[in-house]
Amino acid sequence: MRIVLLGAPGSGKGTQAQRLIDKYGVPQVSTGDLLRAAVAAGTPLGLHAKATMDAGRLVDDETMLGIIRERLAAPDAKNGYILDGFPRTIPQADGLNALLAEIGQPLQAVVLMEVDGEQLFRRLTGRRTCKACGRVFNVYTAPPSVPAPCGGRCETPDLFQRPDDSEATIGKRLDVYAAQTRPLVDYYDARGLLAKVDAEGDIDVVTGRLEAALAAAGAGR
Ligand code: AMP
Repeated sequence: MRIVLLGAPGSGKGTQAQRLIDKYGVPQVSTGDLLRAAVAAGTPLGLHAKATMDAGRLVDDETMLGIIRERLAAPDAKNGYILDGFPRTIPQADGLNALLAEIGQPLQAVVLMEVDGEQLFRRLTGRRTCKACGRVFNVYTAPPSVPAPCGGRCETPDLFQRPDDSEATIGKRLDVYAAQTRPLVDYYDARGLLAKVDAEGDIDVVTGRLEAALAAAGAGR
């Protein structure tokens, strides 16, 4: 499976990707997670990216393509991957095409996760992450007590809010999505790769819609 989950911040890409990895046996490749890990580890990449991320802007395309080239070459990605948060610009999409053409493994599908703007704002302001296991909760829709804290992994989850999920930065991130990432919808539609999924409502129901869309696109294996 070689797919991209496309959608605004808060559309549920990460949450749904985490549900697909077990079923399809491929890793989730989240460029946001890779960057946050680099920031936490204080690597040169992390130092380069931190201020940009905190401001809700995009890290430059060259850096992002370097990260993705390295990550897709890792052994666990040899049978495929779920790209989450990449590509985010047309040059990134062009770079990804070139990279995948080199290895003769083109994308199978790009799924747009559709959620209306008001919902996105609520999801992002309510988002909390468990420090220990990285599991994501939402104070409005999926509080840590439902189901059991961290699926039983962490007794008492130590929750934090991502710095870029502050109300001040969310508006900026949604504007950046509209200006720089949303054009990828037409880009992939023109290439016959785009599928759209209604990503509002119950998480399990959305997973079902996503799996159906992947099967219809011939990517559900
Ligand atoms: P995310 O977790 O996907 O919302 O990403 C968090 C932040 O990391 C974004 O707001 C950007 O600053 C940065 N980032 C993640 N992926 C990319 C990408 N493909 N291109 C540029 N910046 C990115």
